[in-house]
Amino acid sequence: MPIINRIAEFQADMTAWRRDLHAYPETAFEEHRTSDFVAGKLEGFGIAVHRGLAGTGVVGTLKGSAPGSRAIALRADMDALHILEENGFAHKSRNQGKMHACGHDGHTTMLLGAARYLAETRNFAGTVHFIFQPAEENEGGGRVMVADGLFEKFPVDSVFGMHNWPHLPPGQFGVRTGPMMASYDIFEITVIGKGSHGAMPHHGIDPLLTGAHIVTALQSIVSRNVAPLDAAVVSVTQFHGGDAWNVIPESCVIRGTCRSFEPRIQDSIEPAIRRIAEGVCQSFGATMMLRYERRYPPTINTAVETDFASGVAEQVVGAERVDRNYSQTMGSEDFAFMLQAKPGCYIFLGGGTAEKGGVLHNAHYDFNDETLPIGASYWARLVETAMPRSA
Ligand SMILES: [Zn+2]
Ligand SMILES: [Zn+2]
Repeated sequence: MPIINRIAEFQADMTAWRRDLHAYPETAFEEHRTSDFVAGKLEGFGIAVHRGLAGTGVVGTLKGSAPGSRAIALRADMDALHILEENGFAHKSRNQGKMHACGHDGHTTMLLGAARYLAETRNFAGTVHFIFQPAEENEGGGRVMVADGLFEKFPVDSVFGMHNWPHLPPGQFGVRTGPMMASYDIFEITVIGKGSHGAMPHHGIDPLLTGAHIVTALQSIVSRNVAPLDAAVVSVTQFHGGDAWNVIPESCVIRGTCRSFEPRIQDSIEPAIRRIAEGVCQSFGATMMLRYERRYPPTINTAVETDFASGVAEQVVGAERVDRNYSQTMGSEDFAFMLQAKPGCYIFLGGGTAEKGGVLHNAHYDFNDETLPIGASYWARLVETAMPRSA
């Protein structure tokens, strides 16, 4: 049972929608045009629309043609990134400095394609909720939707998510039970020294030298404190300080991110950063302030729903094109908050663009439109298989 024929007929429409969304990217909680676009399409398909969760969030609700007590939710994300697009094609971003570089334009389109098909056919017994969430990148729109009462207003048995994945060939799926993506924490260390003339460093306390030692010493957390068979990342991604050739500044700021799959590992990293930053500062005569935030938990797929979703993916593309033991990634996802609330499964859909440099968050990235009907067919079959009319 491959791609649904009726959905394949939407290819041109879906491609047009996707490129329209790509041309007008909007970032966290400002997805007003995108939200209007989604709500307008859903209403046009005859689907009941609820707006306002997490501000720009949209939920479409559709009942099957047969009654049923079951309900499932399918989720797409709508937001773009703060990236200056470097593509030259006609649908390149018209919103300067913003870009759909993570393929959420494709996610939104695939869920709309499935919604259109399901509204036409309604060949299921029960209720499906189409969740279009804002602010997946960094700001946790998924967390806000759950906190705003998503699953109280729209009760479901399970929830499903999907992300395009450039590293898999087009139309191949990758998934696994258990932790699929990592937790996402951020840290900021402010090193406070004593400013002085660059030529007379002995009159001051150098925060840059102190900070450089902190950056080096932080590398020992993963290599020396985390057990060798456990996985974690501590990456310093920003180092800010100083304005002049001949001035040792008063302070500097070091920022970065930590990733892991298990709470016990996540719990061990914050105190290790504090110990190192405090200890290094003390040895150099400086002081420090640490800000540490836990942004997203790990994305953890439940066994029953993952087995089910894998079977549906196999129906669409064939068993040989579904990797049920796909490698985990240290990327993270705010779909994790929905999976904390409900059982479910998050799956990768191959886009095949990585070989030519088309990777997520790159200024040249573009979602692979060939895969739109595959993703939409997966969504539609998920609903029809989870809540069959003749069960
Ligand atoms: Zn992203
Ligand atoms: Zn993404």
